[in-house]
Amino acid sequence: MAENIEQLYTQSQITERVKEMGAEICADFIPSKPLLAICVIKGAVLFYADLVKAIRDRDVRFGFVAASSYYSATGDRMLSTGTVNMKYSSVDDSEIVGADVLIVEDIIDTGRTLKALKEYFYEKGANMVKIATLLNKPDCRVVDIEPDYCGFSFYNNPYIIGYGLDNAQQYRNLDGVYKIK
Ligand code: 5GP
Repeated sequence: MAENIEQLYTQSQITERVKEMGAEICADFIPSKPLLAICVIKGAVLFYADLVKAIRDRDVRFGFVAASSYYSATGDRMLSTGTVNMKYSSVDDSEIVGADVLIVEDIIDTGRTLKALKEYFYEKGANMVKIATLLNKPDCRVVDIEPDYCGFSFYNNPYIIGYGLDNAQQYRNLDGVYKIK
């Protein structure tokens, strides 16, 4: 393992927190209605796999998307247009209409991607769209969006890797969350 990385959370700490998040989600969504859980690939894959198992006694439907947000330059600021570049989606429009959607993301930084994704699912006719993120950088936000469920928050913009998150496609398979020193 590289020497320039420092562990922030172990797999067992993550597992405990993800179980708590699953219980929070169960308490909020109607038990009798299927929940459409959307994994934002690639970074959220490991978190998603653990979180859906922690959402007990619910009919959880799976969906996978790869997305980035579009930006428009205004002066020296980059503003989200609220539209999303959906590079891949396994979800048919018919699955979204009337659905209770849970977007599962690895980390929220500026918030642009999740804001655009949330608007996308509402525009496609979702009944409700909530956001679960393992990690959050609240002081990096440039658009108005907050997660409904959050594992851990970080300040001063560390670069996080492991448990699905990469640095140039490396480190995704680490079984904990680390920061690059
Ligand atoms: P946002 O639209 O919120 O700025 O972008 C979120 C995306 O940026 C995440 O899904 C992730 O791909 C990437 N990202 C932001 N911060 C980090 C970080 O600290 N580590 C890694 N690996 N990716 C990050």
